[in-house]
Amino acid sequence: MAQGEHVDKLLGLLSGQGKAAYFGEPVSVLEHCLQCAYFAEQSRAAPATVAAALLHDIGHMLHGLPEDIAQHGVDGGHEELAAAYLSRWFGEDVTETVRLHVAAKRYLCSTDPGYIARLSPASIESLLIQGGPMEPHEVAVFEALPNAKTAVGLRRWDDEAKIPQLQVPGLEHYRPVLLQVSKSMG
Ligand code: FE
Repeated sequence: MAQGEHVDKLLGLLSGQGKAAYFGEPVSVLEHCLQCAYFAEQSRAAPATVAAALLHDIGHMLHGLPEDIAQHGVDGGHEELAAAYLSRWFGEDVTETVRLHVAAKRYLCSTDPGYIARLSPASIESLLIQGGPMEPHEVAVFEALPNAKTAVGLRRWDDEAKIPQLQVPGLEHYRPVLLQVSKSMG
């Protein structure tokens, strides 16, 4: 793939498939992803983290691409699928942050007393499927992972990024940062 072509592909996936409703939330998947990236940028997150915020739910958009899924043989959740898919173009500061964003939710449910109360009903429902709050030994394992803190940061923006009608920059705003944090293909 030519330099930058993958960015076209990713932005195309987000703009095409992102119009779908976001599982019981009041925004579309695309609005959700744009808000999440916006919050990351507002928090002066590192470029790789902004990219991870924009792309964290891309796993939900790969169902139309069976060849990609088969190629990676992933049968984990959308976060595993996304990390595997993105790994051909991005390093672990992007892919691990994406992969851990669901674990980060289970982590926060165990470690932040007020956290569950702030989750949306749809997010509480999926929590049970995702394994529920982490057990203490899982908390320790999670905290030791190199990208755990970034994933927790992403998770907090993820939970906020469900605001109807919020005006935020569009997809093209993120083209430079996606190019900047891509592996060099040379
Ligand atoms: Fe999300």
